[in-house]
Amino acid sequence: MKNMALIVQKYGGTSVGSPERILAVAEKVARRRASGDDMVVVVSAMSGETDRLISLAKSVNPQAPARELDVLISTGEQVTIALLSMALERRGCAARSYTGSQVHIRTDNSHGKARIIDIDDARVRDDLGKGRVVVIAGFQGVDEDGNITTLGRGGSDTTAVAMAAALKADECQIYTDVDGVYTTDPRIVPNARRLDRITAEEMLEMASLGAKVLQIRSVEFAGKYRVPLRVLSSFEEGPGTLITYEENEMEAPLISGIAFSRDEAKVTVRGVPDKPGIAARILGDIGSANINVDMIVQNVGADGTTDFTFTVHRGDYRQALEILKKTAGQLAAREVTGDDKIAKISVVGVGMRSHAGIASTMFKALADESINIQMISTSEIKISVIVDEKYMELGVRTLHAAFGLDKQPTAGR
Ligand code: ASP
Ligand code: MG
Repeated sequence: MKNMALIVQKYGGTSVGSPERILAVAEKVARRRASGDDMVVVVSAMSGETDRLISLAKSVNPQAPARELDVLISTGEQVTIALLSMALERRGCAARSYTGSQVHIRTDNSHGKARIIDIDDARVRDDLGKGRVVVIAGFQGVDEDGNITTLGRGGSDTTAVAMAAALKADECQIYTDVDGVYTTDPRIVPNARRLDRITAEEMLEMASLGAKVLQIRSVEFAGKYRVPLRVLSSFEEGPGTLITYEENEMEAPLISGIAFSRDEAKVTVRGVPDKPGIAARILGDIGSANINVDMIVQNVGADGTTDFTFTVHRGDYRQALEILKKTAGQLAAREVTGDDKIAKISVVGVGMRSHAGIASTMFKALADESINIQMISTSEIKISVIVDEKYMELGVRTLHAAFGLDKQPTAGR
């Protein structure tokens, strides 16, 4: 006999994008419930709905108060929980829907990007005990004063993971429109492969670099509470990708994936005095403007001066240049230059902790294609390079092949 499990499933906007799709989700959930598992289902708003609500708000007040915006945009999910519960009931599967505040998903009060503090799971457990499927609105919670909050775009992933952590679920399954996490974006490399497993650490590096399968915060949350997390397709059967927490590094693949981002720009201050406090000063001015800095490179000093380069999001480029020109003037630096036609490519893998030579393989592969590397940075499980944006796709394809990530051709096909 099969052991009963407690499963938290999350369905994204596309998966609940129409009445037919909601019925299909109900079918899937009801079948799993009928097999004996306890089911908690977290849903997103129907696809496009959150965007529609945001633009509705803008048309009434371009500077809509964050509190009211949350009241508005949390309604998208309220629609889908009700519809899914109705669809389940129609199939004879007992279900109850709840908003975030009804199941006490307590958050801080930063509207639009609230963080979950705790969840009181009593109500959910009570329903599960009565054999009901519990359907919960993703993306939302309630602060200490009873105000509705939202968790940031893509936040339903985090609701699901938090719910799974609170309930100590056997698995948290994120159903989406892709069938798992890939070695890189298949739109750029048609040979990209679905990974059976990826460590949470790698996933975080991949996610923050643009592989937008899961909300980054949900992966952080999953890592903290070691939630067994799986990404699967709503539309095709398959094992998806399991996010893991321990990996035997000697057996891990050298590289799990290639991430990239086109939204990059770099700025350089030349000839700044080579003395204590200068880097702090330059980045201090940038930080005060709330501009995030990614890679930072400072040259070895010569003649008492040095060059200082860093990258920012392309959207912050103009502002960063302006700020730097001011700072440079005050520091008597030689000049400020910049380039917003750059891209970042990274190879990611926990395997590189225990294997040497990854960097040289990477640089050689790029050199063989005559791709010039403008900047390099490394972490324990990632090597990133900045290249001219026009070589980004070629670079990604080249590295994908160089590290053996291409799909093996299947015999007889
Ligand atoms: N509906 C929200 C969004 O579109 C949350 C989510 O789908 O996860 O961002
Ligand atoms: Mg999503």
